[in-house]
Amino acid sequence: MTENAGHTNTFKGFDVSFNVSLSRYTSFRVGGPADVLAIPERVDTLVALLKTARTARVPVTVLGGGTNTLVTDSGIRGLVIVLTGLKTTPEFAAKKDQIRLTAMAGEKLGKLCRMSAEKGYAGLEWAAGIPGTLGGAIMMNAGSHGSDMAAIVGSVDILNPDTLEINTLNAGDLNFSYRSLDLGGRIILSATLQLTPAAADRVKAAFETNLKAKNTSQPVSKASGGCFFKNPSPDKPAGLLIEQAGLKGTTYGGAMVSDLHANFIINHDNADCSDITTLAANVQERVFEKFNIKLEAEVKTIGD
Ligand SMILES: Cc1cc2nc3c(=O)[nH]c(=O)nc-3n(C[C@H](O)[C@H](O)[C@H](O)COP(=O)(O)OP(=O)(O)OC[C@H]3O[C@@H](n4cnc5c(N)ncnc54)[C@H](O)[C@@H]3O)c2cc1C
Repeated sequence: MTENAGHTNTFKGFDVSFNVSLSRYTSFRVGGPADVLAIPERVDTLVALLKTARTARVPVTVLGGGTNTLVTDSGIRGLVIVLTGLKTTPEFAAKKDQIRLTAMAGEKLGKLCRMSAEKGYAGLEWAAGIPGTLGGAIMMNAGSHGSDMAAIVGSVDILNPDTLEINTLNAGDLNFSYRSLDLGGRIILSATLQLTPAAADRVKAAFETNLKAKNTSQPVSKASGGCFFKNPSPDKPAGLLIEQAGLKGTTYGGAMVSDLHANFIINHDNADCSDITTLAANVQERVFEKFNIKLEAEVKTIGD
C-alpha cells in the first residue's frame, strides 16, 4: 500500500485533503505539500484527529495563520492541522476595573484588536496590522510598539496532543520570552486577554496611528513572514544592521531583502523556500562579517 493510500484509510470519515500545497496556508506563499491537511472547526474534531494520528503513528504539525512560518519546498510529512477554523464569537466581560476578552485560538488577532479599539478597551492597540491568529500570536509572543502578548494574556486553555487532556494555565504559569512561549508541544485552544476600559477616542486614535505606522514602514502588501530576524538588542534592531550592511534590495532567486524595511525578506517573484533561506543565510553572513553579530531567525522554518 502506498503512503497516501495508508493516510486515506487512516483518516477515513474526516474532512481532510491529501497532498495539499502549503503555499496557500503561509503568508510567504511558498512551501511544498502536506501529506494530509485538516482545518477542524471544533475542539472535539481536533481531539479526534490527534487521537487517530497518534494511534496510526502519523506525525502532526499545527499551524495558525502561517504568518510567521516558512514551509520547506519538500513540504511536511504526516498530518498538518491548520487552526484557523477554531473560532466562535469573541466575548468581552467586565470584571472589577478590567475587561476580559475570551476568544478561540483560530480567531484573527487583527479582528480582536479592532473590536477592542472600537469598544474603547485598551491593551491590544499595539497589535494593529499584525496578521495571524490569536493562538499563533501567543505562541510567538507577538509584539510591537513596546508591548507584547505576554503583557495581556490572562490565561490559556491548552490541549496535550499525547494525553488529549485539556488544562488551563494562568499568566504566572506561562514561560514567555522575546518572541517565544514554551508550551512543550501543547496546543492553545482559547485564551483570555486582560484589557482595561479607557476613553474610546484615545484607544481608536492609538489603533489608527499604529496601523498607519505599520502600513507605511513595512512592506505589508508583499508576501513575507514579517520581521525575519529577532532584534539582537533594542538599540541594535536587525533591520538597521541589515540596512547598514548595505543589503536593502539584495535578491536571491525570487526572494528579496525589502527596500522599505530591511528585516523583511519578501517573496517578490515566485520565490521558493530555498531562495528565501539562502538569502537569509547570506544576510546573516554579511551582518556577522560587518558587526560580529549573529542574527537569529524569528521566522520558523518547518518541513522536510
Ligand atoms: C506583514 C507582517 C507583519 C508582521 N508584523 C509583526 C509584528 O509587528 N510583530 C510580531 O510580533 N509579529 C509580526 N508578524 C509575524 C506574525 O504575524 C506573528 O508572529 C503572528 O502572531 C503569528 O501568528 P500565526 O497564527 O500566523 O502563527 P503561525 O505562523 O501559524 O505559527 C507560529 C508558531 O506558532 C505555532 N502555533 C500556531 N497556532 C498555535 C496554537 N493554537 N497552539 C500551539 N501552537 C500554535 C505554530 O506551530 C508555529 O510554530 C508579521 C507578519 C507579517 C506577514
